Amino acid sequence: MKSTINIIGSGFSSLAASCYLAQAGYEVNIFEKNQTIGGRARQLIKDGFTFDIGPTWYWMPDVFERFFSDFNKKPSQYYTLEKLSPAYSVYFGKNDYVTIEDTLDKITEAFEKEEKGSSKKLKKFIDNAKNNYDIAIKDLVYNPGVSPLELVTPATIKKINQFFSTIKKDVRKEFKNDRLVKILEFPVLFLGAKPSDTPSFYSFMNYADFGLGTFHPKKGMYQVILAMENLAKELGVNIKVNSPIDKIIVENGKAKGIVSNGENFHCDVVVSGADYHHTETLLDKPLRQYSENYWEKKTFAPSSLLFYVGFNKKLKNVNHHTLFFDVDFDVHAEAIYDNPRWPENPLFYASFPSITDDNAAPVGKEAGIFLIPLAPGIEDTPELRSQYFEKIIDRFENLTSQNVKNDIIFKESFCLNDFVKDYNSYKGNAYGMANTLLQTAFLRPKLKSKKVKNLFFTGQLTVPGPGVPPSLISGKLVADLVTKHHSI
Ligand SMILES: Cc1cc2nc3c(=O)[nH]c(=O)nc-3n(C[C@H](O)[C@H](O)[C@H](O)COP(=O)(O)OP(=O)(O)OC[C@H]3O[C@@H](n4cnc5c(N)ncnc54)[C@H](O)[C@@H]3O)c2cc1C
Repeated sequence: MKSTINIIGSGFSSLAASCYLAQAGYEVNIFEKNQTIGGRARQLIKDGFTFDIGPTWYWMPDVFERFFSDFNKKPSQYYTLEKLSPAYSVYFGKNDYVTIEDTLDKITEAFEKEEKGSSKKLKKFIDNAKNNYDIAIKDLVYNPGVSPLELVTPATIKKINQFFSTIKKDVRKEFKNDRLVKILEFPVLFLGAKPSDTPSFYSFMNYADFGLGTFHPKKGMYQVILAMENLAKELGVNIKVNSPIDKIIVENGKAKGIVSNGENFHCDVVVSGADYHHTETLLDKPLRQYSENYWEKKTFAPSSLLFYVGFNKKLKNVNHHTLFFDVDFDVHAEAIYDNPRWPENPLFYASFPSITDDNAAPVGKEAGIFLIPLAPGIEDTPELRSQYFEKIIDRFENLTSQNVKNDIIFKESFCLNDFVKDYNSYKGNAYGMANTLLQTAFLRPKLKSKKVKNLFFTGQLTVPGPGVPPSLISGKLVADLVTKHHSI
């Protein structure tokens, strides 16, 4: 009889792991607590509007291609990808914004207009970023984070100084214009830490941004979840929703099954794609590897306050992705990382998928998603949510020179309490654990439990880190480890 693997959760990492494990010949079952699959990448459908609840930026298309090609498939067999043109725009003041176009040549031109001589510097910066991308995303991130030696290759030895300098220092050394600095520091925010705590080597995110571009799957990011669900089902994976796991069954030091809705589901291996901290609470205390103190000391990626808004008209002066960097990022970052509290004047991000995708809103209307990054673990109340909506919508109206408040058909919010309730997220984090120097690769929580045999972890709190492409990679890494340690 085939060995059985029970997987907790149905986010990107769990779905990816399930595909690889089913392909390797195991009997694979996914147990998802929520009514629908996809985890942080679920979808909200309301009054003819469709919103991605979580990820909206499709970056690093090569990682998705590599995933599907491992099953002799292509993304295009499941969803239609469009390169956004322009990629996004960044507001710095009233009617004052920089547009990031869809090719490096056009972006270079925009840089030169902002700061004389910057185009040459940008070319050099992106050449180095591309080189880092080739080393990191095509190779390094596919290591399981078991040994520090994984990071030591002839290519990384040459770059050792880039592990000890930071993105903030490197960018500011070359570029003086504050707007260009903010634009170049933006991509590493996806890694969950401040640019001043992110090693220079991570400039590969700038190559992902300017070199590869920003894509949109038609009908939204959820199409990628549906694609992976289809692939998983084609490979024979069973998916159960409304199935929260309350306990991992351990006998003689080995994971033997899981308990859901009072029923035991026996298996040979358990893989959890649920938040790492939560998964360990499903074990008796002596079987947990990391103490509360360990988690407390880690740098977590931000949580977020999100609004999903249906507008009764088309909006002006915005792009599919629009960033509002008209306030001081350092002050906001301090409120996220150093002295956790609600930021007085937050930066925010807005997405209007209906600008490029007719499926996102009824004709003549606009779907808007607004996101304010917040510290995990802070208070979350309906009053705070409303107060912050007012703050950003006032600024939005002023910066983009239009009235929108009277055209709001509905607004739904999602914040820390929802991250905890819906995903069992540690302190309500949105993007998992940040990628800082001391939280990279072998220094992250491990894919394989050191205390319970046949228990494995995947997802944004383990290797390689936060984001959809890393979650796909995490699923592959855990499947490789399981296959190595447990025969079919
Ligand atoms: C608001 C937001 C915006 C983002 N934007 C981007 C972006 O633009 N681009 C990008 O690349 N990335 C983005 N990310 C990050 C990206 O979405 C995540 O890194 C990725 O989706 C994480 O996948 P995962 O599999 O690790 O975890 P999750 O998606 O959290 O999956 C974990 C699953 O486990 C389930 N679960 C938890 N506990 C249990 C239990 N006891 N029993 C059963 N099931 C359980 C949860 O319900 C969930 O389905 C964003 C994230 C958020 C929240």
